[in-house]
Amino acid sequence: MIINNNLLKLILFIYIFFTNLALSAVVKENIWHKGDTFSEYLDKYNIGQSLLRDISPEDFKYVSEIQTGEKFYEMTEGNRLIQALIPIGEEMQIQIVRNKSGRYDFDIIPIVYKHVQDQVRVDIKNSCYNDIYKLTNNPRLGFMLKTIYKGVIDFRKLQRGDKIAFVYSQKSRLGKPFGQPVIKGALIKHRGKKSYSFTDKDGNIWHDTKKTVLVKKARYKNVIHTKTKIIKKRNRYRFIMPLKHPRITSTFSYKRWHPILHRYRPHLGVDFGAKRGTPLYAVAKGKVIYAGWMRGYGKVVKIKHTEGYVSLYAHMSRIKTRVGRYVRQGQIIGAVGSTGRSTGPHLHFGLYHNSRAINPLRLLNKKGNYINVKVTTKYQSLEKYTVTSRKKVSIRGAEKLKTKLLRLIKLKEQKAFKWDEIENNLIHINNKVAKR
Ligand SMILES: [Zn+2]
Repeated sequence: MIINNNLLKLILFIYIFFTNLALSAVVKENIWHKGDTFSEYLDKYNIGQSLLRDISPEDFKYVSEIQTGEKFYEMTEGNRLIQALIPIGEEMQIQIVRNKSGRYDFDIIPIVYKHVQDQVRVDIKNSCYNDIYKLTNNPRLGFMLKTIYKGVIDFRKLQRGDKIAFVYSQKSRLGKPFGQPVIKGALIKHRGKKSYSFTDKDGNIWHDTKKTVLVKKARYKNVIHTKTKIIKKRNRYRFIMPLKHPRITSTFSYKRWHPILHRYRPHLGVDFGAKRGTPLYAVAKGKVIYAGWMRGYGKVVKIKHTEGYVSLYAHMSRIKTRVGRYVRQGQIIGAVGSTGRSTGPHLHFGLYHNSRAINPLRLLNKKGNYINVKVTTKYQSLEKYTVTSRKKVSIRGAEKLKTKLLRLIKLKEQKAFKWDEIENNLIHINNKVAKR
């Protein structure tokens, strides 16, 4: 569990012996003081400022990352620096090392540390922080414990007779605590009341062996969609227009000024202006009852429809049907012309009901033969959504840890590993140096 110091010393002794580096070398801990600059540090050991020029611009920013109060290690031989290791954060460190030619190399290397895990059992005698510090010689443990119990236990209220048991892990560098300890589980017995704390793998603190997690679940629901589409539909008017692009040139009238006769005459139909040859359609289904010449009207077709209606198409250039034929609505029956008494190509269209002429525009579909119809369709689809619920789950290893803590707190004696002071002649080994 704890580094075997004697073994380490032996390895280091062999290392120093073979490298013939520092038979009288000493390692000491130093502190980077406020306002210390890297340049001044080099001056202190008469290391040429040329070292600064060898540092790549990329690495140079790390030099300014050295924090005030940072503890670092120096190995010296008399007034000469053999090696300095200055941490930048918890993982990397600056290494300045004297090489064989007496010059210095600069590098940024990983910090080599060990993980130390220990179980602690403390009796509160006066102050929680001091009691833990006295027992472990690690000032960070008390602070960390206080942090994780924030809002749960007021540490000032802990009193003589209260007990604390906890399991923690701590990075160790040269036998000293390095970085923040992780308190994996803790049990505080205050006035007989037990209060637990567990740290999960994400570093979150829980005061129970179970933690609350958010669980997302997929659910599906039926959603009804409507889709609107516009389609062209044949207009279901009783009578459609007799030609495609109807242009009315003369309307129905019982009394109209006749431009040729210069008299008032009735106009018992509607005139549509159109080019010669424009197709003419049957305005409704029916039977052809007349197809031929009619005085004044020229070539004429008459169709008999249901319910006593008859349509008449006059001045046609061509007739394309015969008497006695049945025609569909929209079927071509002939073409626009100017036969009979006519001033130019046009269609004279008449509509009769029970043998009486009526105004065709009252019954013809004025919007055209086709209309746009909105069609709305509905369809269903399954749609996914998520629901979030809270769930209690066991913290991995917490139950085991709880048992361990309960056993620990029952111990009669206090128990803890005491962090040693730095041991002389312990030298950080790294491969690069060892190869020299
Ligand atoms: Zn007319």
